[in-house]
Amino acid sequence: MEKECIFCNIINRKLPSEFLYEDDTVVVFKDIHPRAPIHLLIVPKKHIRSINDFGEDDKSIVLDTIDIAKMMAVKTGISRSGFKLLFNVEKGGGQVIFHLHLHLMGGWRR
Ligand code: AMP
Ligand code: ZN
Repeated sequence: MEKECIFCNIINRKLPSEFLYEDDTVVVFKDIHPRAPIHLLIVPKKHIRSINDFGEDDKSIVLDTIDIAKMMAVKTGISRSGFKLLFNVEKGGGQVIFHLHLHLMGGWRR
């Protein structure tokens, strides 16, 4: 855990947030500035900076985020209509919070 990391502080309940899902490795909460009707963040509990930084031992954690995203898409009713999954990587890739997280976005009318 990193003291100054917003997501570590949310995971450790030092900052308020409502978890839509939690297990031993991952939490899910709503993005505070949603850019889609459904916009969730799937966040590993382990502090990993970005997709550039996960090691051999962390591969299953990254797969878990995708698995949980699929499950949350079903749960929120956007699985069949479709959704986007997005990892922003480092500043050039739009990452602003340097704790690995997967965006799940969907629910647009198309
Ligand atoms: P990224 O650009 O991939 O680093 O995305 C970080 C996301 O975290 C942004 O979409 C923010 O809106 C979101 N965010 C920042 N602070 C919070 C918070 N306290 N609770 C929920 N989402 C947050
Ligand atoms: Zn962190």
